[in-house]
Amino acid sequence: MEEECCPNIDLKKWNNKEIEWKNKVFYSRPLYLFLHIPLNMESAITKGYAALTAKGYKMEEPAMILEKENGLFTGEVLFNIKKGKNLDRKVKTISGKFLAKAIKGEYKDAGKVVRQVIDAVNKRRGNLPDEVYCWFANCPKCAKKQGGVKIIAFARLE
Ligand SMILES: [Zn+2]
Repeated sequence: MEEECCPNIDLKKWNNKEIEWKNKVFYSRPLYLFLHIPLNMESAITKGYAALTAKGYKMEEPAMILEKENGLFTGEVLFNIKKGKNLDRKVKTISGKFLAKAIKGEYKDAGKVVRQVIDAVNKRRGNLPDEVYCWFANCPKCAKKQGGVKIIAFARLE
């Protein structure tokens, strides 16, 4: 049998869990959206991956590529890379506590899981989170083998 390229992540370990990031390092690339739908996700991932490899940056394991919306029309693709020296200005660190919601479904379910995590944070804190990230935790090929697209949404708690 052909080996899977994405790890078979156990969503139970992520769903409804509080996650703390301490100076997690991300390489950022712009993403253009139309009403929450990324228009250039694939090319942003391909170009971003090529650019960070050219700079000698290495992805953390498991490979985490996040999508973040900054408004209706713009967002970012964030590649979780290993910490290092001489990181350029496209590299940012993210710290804080996040609530995660995880589902297995189709790409179009991203909006659903994002709404779930926003509602959950809103219930806890009494206001909406100002940062939400979406992790597509397997590639389309592995999604077929693993019974669906794994989507984990993170919303900032504090
Ligand atoms: Zn894969």
